[in-house]
Amino acid sequence: MSQFVVGLTGGIASGKSEVTRRFEALGIEIADADLVAREIVAPGSPALEQIARLFGPQVLLADGSLDRAQLRQHVFASQEARLALEAITHPAIRARLQALCGAARSPYAIAAIPLLAEAGGRQPYPWLDRIVVVDAPASLQHSRLMLRDGIDAGLADRMIAAQATREQRKALADDLITNDGHPDHLQARVEELDRLYRELAAAKHSA
Ligand code: ADP
Repeated sequence: MSQFVVGLTGGIASGKSEVTRRFEALGIEIADADLVAREIVAPGSPALEQIARLFGPQVLLADGSLDRAQLRQHVFASQEARLALEAITHPAIRARLQALCGAARSPYAIAAIPLLAEAGGRQPYPWLDRIVVVDAPASLQHSRLMLRDGIDAGLADRMIAAQATREQRKALADDLITNDGHPDHLQARVEELDRLYRELAAAKHSA
């Protein structure tokens, strides 16, 4: 059981996946909010039933799975609909993340939550012991995003602008990983934080 949980966040293409991969290689279990968000609306899940009750059966495909395109239309059209959807999905995502981290067998666990700043910050996650933010200058985010996703500069701009600002994310950070250099530099920072988190986890465990 991991009693110590680190929340990890960062802007799009800041390097979150690079960072979590490196923690994983050091033996740390990761619970990923993006994966959990899909899992909690699987056919037959309570969250999917609530969504279908709220928006009607047209948000379900013939096989009973969620019709994401339909749902997106509802949610783009109305802020009220988006909030109603989030009131269903966010608590379910948080509960599942907490359960996965609690069941992890590594010395500590990481909950990777890309939209932590957008989804209320630390307050809805009182069980996070620590928050680490992956940060990169916007120009690097932009070029990495274009390269990784094969998109043009305008779309990359809009995707970055749709998110919280770097400052909003950094305000949540206990620890910062500045990913603006060579991957070796990133590795060294991850190893440094891994040592810190193992110490903090051991101290919490023996408290
Ligand atoms: P995120 O998960 O935050 O969206 P990724 O980890 O996918 O971001 O990183 C975005 C892209 O930038 C990926 O293609 C990744 O390989 C690359 N990248 C990340 N960090 C570095 C770095 N320090 N040097 C060079 N490329 C990097």
